[in-house]
Amino acid sequence: MQEPTALSQPDTFIEHYERKIHSQKQLIELSKALNSNLDLRSLIDSILNVSIAQSRCLQAGIYLVPEIDHHGLVLNENVVGFEIDDPSAFFIPYKSDIIKLLSEYPTLLTLTEIKNIADATDHSSLAQVSYRDVIKQLSKLSSELLLIPLKAKGRINGILVMGPKSDGEAYFAEEKAFLSDLASLAAIAVENARLYELATVDMMTKLKIHHFFQTRLREEMELSRETNKPLSLLLTDIDHFKKFNDTYGHQIGDLVLKEVAKVLIQTAKGNDVAARYGGEEFALIAPGRTRDEALAIAEKYREKIEKLSVKNPSDKGEKILKVTVSVGVATFDFDADHENKHLIERTDQALYAAKHGGRNRVEAK
Ligand code: GH3
Ligand code: MG
Ligand code: MG
Repeated sequence: MQEPTALSQPDTFIEHYERKIHSQKQLIELSKALNSNLDLRSLIDSILNVSIAQSRCLQAGIYLVPEIDHHGLVLNENVVGFEIDDPSAFFIPYKSDIIKLLSEYPTLLTLTEIKNIADATDHSSLAQVSYRDVIKQLSKLSSELLLIPLKAKGRINGILVMGPKSDGEAYFAEEKAFLSDLASLAAIAVENARLYELATVDMMTKLKIHHFFQTRLREEMELSRETNKPLSLLLTDIDHFKKFNDTYGHQIGDLVLKEVAKVLIQTAKGNDVAARYGGEEFALIAPGRTRDEALAIAEKYREKIEKLSVKNPSDKGEKILKVTVSVGVATFDFDADHENKHLIERTDQALYAAKHGGRNRVEAK
């Protein structure tokens, strides 16, 4: 059976070519956006939004390589339209037939086509099991899907999954070609963003690493001087954290650290940078914020941590762990802070004052 094309519709040639030019323009725009974006989250947003707009479907998601030590692809929590409780349950192992099929198959595949291929495969083979498992998992998203593999460096690093079109029609050959081109661009962009994240993010806390913090602080100080806009810095340190480790063990200590970091990441808005300064000392670079605004952010963060309840898993989750932080705040002083270390020193002095003032408090310089 021949695939439906846009031309099989009652379209004129002009409409057809106009649409083609529009698609090409969109791809160029998308390519620019993808190339200049190393933030994986907004990258995924762009990919999903453009693919949905172009194919007029209502649902889309993307399976991606999660972190280091991975054995397959996980559905990213950023999905459009699909109803999912736990994205991590949607996992496609590298060693599954479906990955092999998508790597080798020359065109895109629908879920129905994959089912047919699976049915035609030897049922006694072990690999058939993984086919069945993955098909079952995909069917939970929707009974009809289009799967578009993302290939970078000759390897699948993602799968774009599109739901059925809103008009119920099959995907046109042109739409498939567009999605295929989009996937080629997306694969490179996703790979770049992933490498960037691996190089700049602390895997345990998901905060930016120390070196990134120092570089960004230097850049933000230069920008602040140039634009004459304020810039503030927060340094936070968990109170009596040693006791935590000593009482509950290092693993529980790590868990608390992750929870406290998560709140700092949620606190960061816009151009703010949440970083792990060292051990259990975190930092927030707050460009454009005055001393008073930074103080308000610090106070809100302190309160949120005070209210935080971390469940102790080794205690069947019954014992709730309470934690507090001390925060130091300083605002960039064009005259006093010649280098980033000067601003950090002043912020550290404020943190020291918060500790000596009784902990679980905010002090500013
Ligand atoms: P203070 O209120 O004065 O800050 O008391 P403190 O006990 O928190 O003292 P300090 O900040 O000097 O202690 C830091 C402790 O944090 C010591 C170190 O063992 C622990 N720590 C640093 N990094 C990690 C980590 O990645 N995981 C765990 N579990 N502990 C860490
Ligand atoms: Mg400390
Ligand atoms: Mg501490």
